[in-house]
Amino acid sequence: MKIRRFKLIYLPEGTSLKREFNIQMKHLWIVLSLVLTCFLVLSSGTAYILNNWFNAKKVSTLMFKNTRLEKQLKAARDKVEYMGQKVDHLARSNGELRAYVHLPVLDTDLLKMGIGGALPAPIGDSTGAEDLISRLDQMERQIGLQENSLAEIESQLADQEKMLRSLPSIRPVNGGAFSSYFGKRRDPFTGRWEPHMGLDINTHSGAPIYAAADGKVLHASREPAYGNVVVIDHGHGYRTLYAHMSRFACTKGEQVKRGEVIGYVGSTGRSTGPHLHYEVRRHNKHQNPLDYMFEGFQVARLP
Ligand SMILES: [Zn+2]
Repeated sequence: MKIRRFKLIYLPEGTSLKREFNIQMKHLWIVLSLVLTCFLVLSSGTAYILNNWFNAKKVSTLMFKNTRLEKQLKAARDKVEYMGQKVDHLARSNGELRAYVHLPVLDTDLLKMGIGGALPAPIGDSTGAEDLISRLDQMERQIGLQENSLAEIESQLADQEKMLRSLPSIRPVNGGAFSSYFGKRRDPFTGRWEPHMGLDINTHSGAPIYAAADGKVLHASREPAYGNVVVIDHGHGYRTLYAHMSRFACTKGEQVKRGEVIGYVGSTGRSTGPHLHYEVRRHNKHQNPLDYMFEGFQVARLP
C-alpha cells in the first residue's frame, strides 16, 4: 500500500496541548528536496570559495618564488657572461704565450668552442637556463683546453731552459786578451797560413777556466798538441774544448754546470805562452767561439 499522506502529532510534555499536522507525502518530498538542494548549493559554494582561496595563496607563493628565481637566473647569466669574458682573456694570453715559446697556435675551431659573448635572450616560454648550462659546458671544455695548453707551455719552457743551459754561452776565462781569432792565421811555429779552429785568450797562468755550459766531461787528458785538454759534451750536438791547461779541475765522465771551474790556464802542449785555446763544435763542425759568448750569460767579467 502506498502512503499518500500521514499525520504528525505534537505532544509537549506536562501539558494537555495537542497539535496535529496532516502532511501529504508529496509535500514532504518537496521540502526534503529543497533542503537537500540548499545543502548541496551551500556546500559546493563553500568548497569552491575555499578551493579558490587555497589556489590564490598557492599562485601567490609560486609567483613570488618565480620572481626570485628569475632574478637569480638573471644574476647567474650575468656572472656566466663575465666568466666567459675572463676565459676568453685567458685563452688570448695562452695564445700569446704559445707564440712566445714557439708552440703552434691552437686550432681555431677548438678555440671557438669556448668563445664567450652575450647569451641569447630566452625565447617563448624558455627560462634561458638551457643556454646557461650549454655555455657552462662550453666554458668547462675551454678551461680544459687551456689547462692542457698551459701544461704544454710549461714543458716547452722546461725543454728550452734545459737547452739554453746546454748552449755554450759564456766567456770561459775572466778577462785576458784575444790573441788569435777563429779562421786562417799564421802558425806561430811554422809561419805558414793555417786554419785556427778556436779562439786564443791570453791570460796569466793559473787563471780559472769555466765550463761554457752544462754538460758531461768527455775527455780530460794530455795530448801532444793540445797539452792538457778538456772536452765537454753539452748535448744537442754541442761540444767545447779547452786546451793548454796547467792542470785539471774535473775528471772524465763528470757532469759539470755552466760557470763551474774545470781547469786552470797554462802553456802545455804546442803553446808559446800561457793562454786558453777554446773551441766550440756543433755536430762536429767548428764554430766561431765569439758567436757563443752572450753578454747576458757572461759570468767571467773583464777586470
Ligand atoms: Zn789556439
